[in-house]
Amino acid sequence: MARQCNALGEGVIVQRLKDLKENRRSTEKRIMEMNIQPTLKEATPGNLGYALPYTQLQAILEMISLLDGITPGVDGPDTLLYGPEIKWYSSRTELKNNLETLKYNNLYCAGDGVGITRGIVQAAQCGIIIANNIMEKEGLC
Ligand SMILES: Cc1cc2nc3c(=O)[nH]c(=O)nc-3n(C[C@H](O)[C@H](O)[C@H](O)COP(=O)(O)OP(=O)(O)OC[C@H]3O[C@@H](n4cnc5c(N)ncnc54)[C@H](O)[C@@H]3O)c2cc1C
Repeated sequence: MARQCNALGEGVIVQRLKDLKENRRSTEKRIMEMNIQPTLKEATPGNLGYALPYTQLQAILEMISLLDGITPGVDGPDTLLYGPEIKWYSSRTELKNNLETLKYNNLYCAGDGVGITRGIVQAAQCGIIIANNIMEKEGLC
């Protein structure tokens, strides 16, 4: 297995169901001690609780619990769950200096949508840059 962490930028997370229910991350040691070994060797032990939205996680747990009625044991401690951690933060749009997209005229990206920073000051600054630019285009300043 590659490494241990709660979040990662590549690959998928693997976690024991027991760890997920106890809200603690799976570690390589905990997984090695199990009877079942992950078939996806490159998966990284971690905590899916940090990667998936709460409501989706609850739905998955409920589904596993119901599945246990059909296939007893699925809701056991050593069931392995794989899940991706998907971040949109790094998605970047190609922009001009005035934050207008290179591809579409008069379409601007601001704030978190720019994909460079995350913060209220930067978001506000984006708004000012774009507003000034539109006013300039409209001959209002
Ligand atoms: C829990 C938390 C704590 C944070 N703490 C800090 C902090 O301490 N300091 C800091 O600098 N930054 C902090 N941030 C980050 C900061 O809030 C964001 O970077 C900033 O708000 C981004 O501004 P924005 O205008 O890009 O997006 P947002 O503030 O998210 O505004 C987007 C708006 O668009 C609306 N919207 C979405 N979809 C649609 C649609 N289809 N139609 C119409 N409207 C829509 C949303 O309702 C929302 O009002 C925090 C973020 C979070 C989640």
